[in-house]
Amino acid sequence: MNRALLDSLFAAGGAADWGWTSYETLTPHMDENAREKAEALCPGAQCVLVCAVPYYAGDAPGNLSLYARGKDYHLVLGDLLNPICEVLHEKYPAYRFVPGVDNSPLPEREAAWAAGIGLRGEHGLVIVPPYGSWVFLGTILTDHPAPPPDRAPSPPCIRCGKCQKVCPGGALRGETFDPERCLSHLTQKKGELPPEQEALLASHPLAWGCDLCQKVCPYNAHPKATGVSTFRDDLVENLTEDMVEGVTNRQFKERYGDRAFAWRGPAVIRRNLALQTSKN
Ligand code: SF4
Ligand code: SF4
Repeated sequence: MNRALLDSLFAAGGAADWGWTSYETLTPHMDENAREKAEALCPGAQCVLVCAVPYYAGDAPGNLSLYARGKDYHLVLGDLLNPICEVLHEKYPAYRFVPGVDNSPLPEREAAWAAGIGLRGEHGLVIVPPYGSWVFLGTILTDHPAPPPDRAPSPPCIRCGKCQKVCPGGALRGETFDPERCLSHLTQKKGELPPEQEALLASHPLAWGCDLCQKVCPYNAHPKATGVSTFRDDLVENLTEDMVEGVTNRQFKERYGDRAFAWRGPAVIRRNLALQTSKN
């Protein structure tokens, strides 16, 4: 594949870095279901291109995680990856190029680390200095043979341990991550929660997501701001009870359908805000 062409295409879309790895490198990190899905999307898959797009746009006060304040990254990265896939398909018509953002069966972080992008953070995130870990990942799965690697896999972070210490629920323990103790996961979990999860949420300041392990990370002390205008402009920083009270799913989607916090509807946000109010 043409490296110079891909450099310019990814850079034009705002990616801070991109790279590739063989599909085979990733299969040990995928369960059978994920492998079946990936191989149905792209039979004979051989290579995964992966890019990191920064989103940090400052840290104004608010109760939404920084990743959820701008336009939904699924839409923004889709707008980046779809045209790249079209260009690649025109240039290499015998091959498939399948874009993926978040909902892909591929282990995106493992793909980024295998491609040598940034650092392997102990909080399980990809750190891309000078943007820190405030990056979204996107992938392109293809049956085009993977070029030989041109970089070593990502090295680990400095392992200061601050992310593990700050985690309120103890979700990060050594190499393991327990989503049921992670506030980012719990703020998105539907329905009634068991008392210990309710207690965790009640003492959490955010209505959606949790940035604590990222905010304490030394690599995020002075992050460079994103150059992607859709992550910088028209931010929604805060949701109040008034903004979600009595709002139907449809109204919520009409207002916030282009935001990453909208996919669960207003009920989980109402519940999170009510739990936090009940504590105060
Ligand atoms: S996002 Fe919050 S709750 Fe989840 S691992 Fe990081 S610090 Fe812990
Ligand atoms: S807080 Fe420390 S241990 Fe955690 S990811 Fe950042 S550098 Fe690594």
